[in-house]
Amino acid sequence: MKILIDNGHGVETAGKRSPDGSLREYSYTREIARRIVQALRKEGFDAEQIVTEEQDISLEERCRRINTICRQVGSKNVLVVSVHCNAAPPNDGQWHKARGFSAHVSLNASAASKKFARSLIKAAEEQGLRVRKYAHQMPYWEQNLAICRDTLCPAVLTENLFQDNREDVAFLLSEEGKQAVTCLHVSGIKHYLNS
Ligand SMILES: [Zn+2]
Repeated sequence: MKILIDNGHGVETAGKRSPDGSLREYSYTREIARRIVQALRKEGFDAEQIVTEEQDISLEERCRRINTICRQVGSKNVLVVSVHCNAAPPNDGQWHKARGFSAHVSLNASAASKKFARSLIKAAEEQGLRVRKYAHQMPYWEQNLAICRDTLCPAVLTENLFQDNREDVAFLLSEEGKQAVTCLHVSGIKHYLNS
């Protein structure tokens, strides 16, 4: 099983930061992606980052990289998770009240992607994180997301708390928070692979 960790956005992407500038999404999600890959490798999994560059890599190119690997090893032997931090609309650079973790799949998501999303949500709850659910029966959100829509393997996008909520940002930047976000991905991947 090839586990691919994507981190959205690049150093030049506008916005995508906490109002006080202490958290920048491109940098934070790269750090988390590196931690997830390291933790998975330590447990013997074949994991890698899809974007090792600091600059923004287009969605088209990221999907191309993922699908190249899918064609090499077979789509059912690949798993993708794209790591993000959320922002509350209207995304105006001010602090807001919305908080929590959520998992997202594409509108054309396979049963496997949905199962993977449920596994990540379960793992987030085990880490004690507040989870934003679409509905009790359908805890993940269905959206038109290129990284999930245009890739050939099971794929989920995670929004790891809010970069414009003071409490979430303080937690995200703490070592405890970084470990919780890393662990939820590692456990969620293991729950999925073991089920
Ligand atoms: Zn993002």
